[in-house]
Amino acid sequence: MATGSLPLVPPEFPARVFATVGTELFAALRAANPARVVLQVPAGLVRNAHDLAARLREEVGAPVVLATRACFGACDFPSRDEAPRADVAVVLGHAPIPNVPLVRPTFFVEMREPAGDPASLAATLAASSIPRRLGLVLSVQHLDLTARLTAALDARGFEVRMGRGDRRLAYAAQALGCNYTSAEAVARDVEAFLFVGTGRFHPLGLAFAVDRPVWALDPLQNILELPIDRAALVRRRQLQVASVRDARRWGILVSTFAGQNRHATALALQERARAHGREAELLLFDRLDPRDLEGRDLDAYVNTACPRIALDDGPYYPKPVLTPPEFLMALGELPLEPYRFDTYH
Ligand code: SF4
Repeated sequence: MATGSLPLVPPEFPARVFATVGTELFAALRAANPARVVLQVPAGLVRNAHDLAARLREEVGAPVVLATRACFGACDFPSRDEAPRADVAVVLGHAPIPNVPLVRPTFFVEMREPAGDPASLAATLAASSIPRRLGLVLSVQHLDLTARLTAALDARGFEVRMGRGDRRLAYAAQALGCNYTSAEAVARDVEAFLFVGTGRFHPLGLAFAVDRPVWALDPLQNILELPIDRAALVRRRQLQVASVRDARRWGILVSTFAGQNRHATALALQERARAHGREAELLLFDRLDPRDLEGRDLDAYVNTACPRIALDDGPYYPKPVLTPPEFLMALGELPLEPYRFDTYH
């Protein structure tokens, strides 16, 4: 089922959105009459990538090449250099990010998963100690559950709030690993947040972003996880900040991916560093590899690309990596409390 087209800012190439791989996607691709299609699949679907490419070739009647580089989000679609002869891209598993310009017409297949029994899920929540005034946040795959789950929770006496985020989010109540503005919009009205989806990636990011308990519900297994210990997460980051307060030589990491490029932020941070008598060098990369930072005569890094690199992958890097707000904390320009998540707008 097609879920519509989303406007892009600036309006370069169109994003088309589909719920699943199926007849509507094939028909739209045939109508686009591509000379060559580049197909990108996320890590969890790599096993099916070759069958999918073969099916697309057969259904569309055009050559299909696979983008084999690991991709991490909708910010990270195949670049022109990666697939120079492809005039259309098919990106699986992500919703478009409305304010990221595309390099070619791109068909996003969100892999929606409507399964999950709202009545049973609401019963599980009602039997737990989760607060009754709840903010609801979902991964894009489970957004089709929103209305039915909200109705089931209403019937159980919950008050459910959902927010509309900023222009990096395509849908209300949607979670993106770098942007939880849909949750922030309702945080003052709720006692806790319920994340609906699988894995720890989004609950962790959400716990950094909002000062409320974050519970996570796997809608397919009907398993409710106890809230994340936000205080421990934040304390760990504050200790990291404190450890580099006196660092003199900083590397400012800047990604060239269209959806992760905050060059202006990097330049502003460089200026702040210099104003505090620190040295700060801009380091450009597309996909960051911890090995690229080995052997450098730098004390610490601040990363302007995906915020989750510092928060989730920090231990893999040879020197401490801070987010931009943490860097300003290290310089003494922001207080350690309240902790500020590096929301990518
Ligand atoms: S910046 Fe990071 S969290 Fe945001 S969409 Fe890209 S990979 Fe995901």
